[in-house]
Amino acid sequence: MTSLLNWGAGDAGGQRITDVYLDREPRLVILFTAAMEEASLHFIADPSVRRSALCPGSGCPLCGLGGAPQLTALLPLYDVESAQVKVLKISSARGPASLRSVLVRHLANPNIANLAVLLRKESNYSYVAEARPLAATAGRGEEAIRAFMLERQEGLELCEALWRPSASELCELPTIRAKLDAIGGLPSSTSDAVPF
Ligand SMILES: [Zn+2]
Repeated sequence: MTSLLNWGAGDAGGQRITDVYLDREPRLVILFTAAMEEASLHFIADPSVRRSALCPGSGCPLCGLGGAPQLTALLPLYDVESAQVKVLKISSARGPASLRSVLVRHLANPNIANLAVLLRKESNYSYVAEARPLAATAGRGEEAIRAFMLERQEGLELCEALWRPSASELCELPTIRAKLDAIGGLPSSTSDAVPF
């Protein structure tokens, strides 16, 4: 698996794991690993959806319309509030206050898995993470983390936390359908073009 600490440039049933959203209200998490997974995501702006989705690849209408997917890191973390391991989406942006940079600084601390981290989003480009000691009586999510690690070994993929629509599902979203209809659909990609 790739590590967030040296992440360069670069994809991804029943939901065994879910993702976590950051907001202005701090989220209390435990960063127990830097081992991440890469995914190519589209933000689906259709009002019926308004969320990120994994690019379905071949035949993707958004790629066909020129909307390149965003390369995103998926990092597992322990969410103290829900007492579950969840998946955090991290954009490839490298600005000093980017989520990636903020997390990398904390993950460089060898003791970070024993600290609680208050994580919040100030704006789309600015995140704040503050490490705090955990109370002696506080749980450190060991059991949930151990169960997650086992599931990983047995094939759990972090992208299972995200919405994975098919190309045809995306084509049927009203705002995408309207664009496709207006331009008479997309030419078939070379990979699945049927020869004359
Ligand atoms: Zn796409």
